[in-house]
Amino acid sequence: MSRAARAHAASPSNFIRQRIEADLASGRCRTVRTRFPPEPNGYLHIGHAKSILLNWGLAREYGGTCNLRFDDTNPETEEQEYVDAIIEAVAWLVPEFDGRALYASDYFDFMYRCAEYLVEAGLAYVDSQTPEEIRARRGTLTRPGEPSPYRERSPAENLALLREMKAGRHPEGAHVLRAKIDMASPNINLRDPVIYRIKHARHHRTGDRWCIYPMYTYAHPIEDAVERITHSICTLEFEDQRPFYDWLLERLAEGGLVERPLPQQIEFARLQLTHVLLSKRKLIELVEGGFVEGWDDPRMPTLVGARRRGYTPEGLRRFAERIGVAKENSVIDYGVLEDCVREHLNEVAPRRMAVLEPLKLVIENWPEGREELLEVPNHPQKPDWGRRKVPFARELWIERDDYRDDPAPDYFRLAPGAEVRLRYAYVVKCLGRDPASGAVRCVYYEDSKSGTPGADRYRVRGNIHWVSARHAHAAEVRLYDKLFASPHPESLADLNPDSVRTVSAWLEPCLAACGADDRFQFERHGYFKPDRGGFVRTVALRESRSA
Ligand code: ATP
Ligand code: MG
Repeated sequence: MSRAARAHAASPSNFIRQRIEADLASGRCRTVRTRFPPEPNGYLHIGHAKSILLNWGLAREYGGTCNLRFDDTNPETEEQEYVDAIIEAVAWLVPEFDGRALYASDYFDFMYRCAEYLVEAGLAYVDSQTPEEIRARRGTLTRPGEPSPYRERSPAENLALLREMKAGRHPEGAHVLRAKIDMASPNINLRDPVIYRIKHARHHRTGDRWCIYPMYTYAHPIEDAVERITHSICTLEFEDQRPFYDWLLERLAEGGLVERPLPQQIEFARLQLTHVLLSKRKLIELVEGGFVEGWDDPRMPTLVGARRRGYTPEGLRRFAERIGVAKENSVIDYGVLEDCVREHLNEVAPRRMAVLEPLKLVIENWPEGREELLEVPNHPQKPDWGRRKVPFARELWIERDDYRDDPAPDYFRLAPGAEVRLRYAYVVKCLGRDPASGAVRCVYYEDSKSGTPGADRYRVRGNIHWVSARHAHAAEVRLYDKLFASPHPESLADLNPDSVRTVSAWLEPCLAACGADDRFQFERHGYFKPDRGGFVRTVALRESRSA
């Protein structure tokens, strides 16, 4: 099978794969090299996961490579803390990632050399207008721009000024370097875009070595070309930048500075999800305003938050595959992401019993002091996962919601006179509530034990979980709701005031000892993960709770 055919068999096709396959077939490129280029100015979010999984996924499918490259060209907003967090997030999502990162700032010398080349070739000039004058002459969508009075400076004069800028001889704002393209272009991005600005700022990696910094739109194509990226995949808002991307690389290729085949920019729709905001800037506001515990708050749509919540790389990968890539912006329902996480956890999480809102139940005909170890399956549909021993005794915790003094006709759980099965244990008949203690009083049927001959004679509709009160492990469990109440939040005013609820739960004793990466389904409640001495709910079960 050809490389393309193999890739095709693995995943449904889309316009990016078709483009890559056409490029491989025509010989325009012989291998596939992609990149993920975050700016280290915040923590990654689930939108970035889509891009990470897409870029490494394509590299894997076509036998190519993918680079993690920090787009660290803006000295003011970037920090080492973010660099470290981003490397960790990529390593978490991408098993084959070797932890090696590249830095755009390592190419500053080369970018500068390209700038001198453009100046010498008459393709760039130093503009000494104020930022306001530059803006005023840029024109609008309907009105062409006007040339700067400095546009016709000679290459020699431009080169001397550029070198002075680089040497720190001018204050910020005094000059900029601009590409010389077309002030009348219908695409405003081609009206002599600024490619370098003066910034007397310390950079987190290059220190004080530079006082001019390249603009993103200039730096990015050069970074791609240096790394011999074949397909530079980005989000749709860069579509209007593509003509400049191509212009710049064509000119540099003509000058022998970069090699062909040149990288090709391909745009796709960014991920948008209901009930969250996917923008580093907005997420910083949540953290700095104290609206959440931090970047890794389990309600945050950051990757550190998702990880702490218990979302798995496999669940996110399933999500990325399910939503695919598109050319049109759309908003995905948050429930689609939850479905994918749930589907993966269903495959890997053993079952346990946990009572989140406890009510005492007393079996009055069960002798005081007697206890029995019941054999309970770790997964009812997977016998090969084995069984565990769960203690059963006279006093149990059950869910408050599994008892009613005065039930509706369609309520099949505990109520005075009703019979239910205590899951994996016995059938009990309810005698009502003890007025003094509030506990639910029951009697059990000795011959009703689950899995023993004749036990199915008892035909009951309710089947509830429980935990032996004497053996139970006490833990705090956090239950989350949407961070934003509105499906399409616009600002922090839309925050859901009740997005977290902490309950004092009683858990099966074996949950007292578990590893940080263990996942469990608490029967009838959803999927849970240990967190800071307690548990967090990753996602609820899909079906509403039933008897
Ligand atoms: P933010 O607005 O959250 O800061 P950004 O696009 O500025 O996002 P970058 O660090 O520049 O963040 O992004 C790195 C890569 O991730 C880019 O290629 C960008 O296109 C991609 N990306 C960012 N947000 C999304 C998203 N919501 N869906 C898909 N890809 C995204
Ligand atoms: Mg950004």
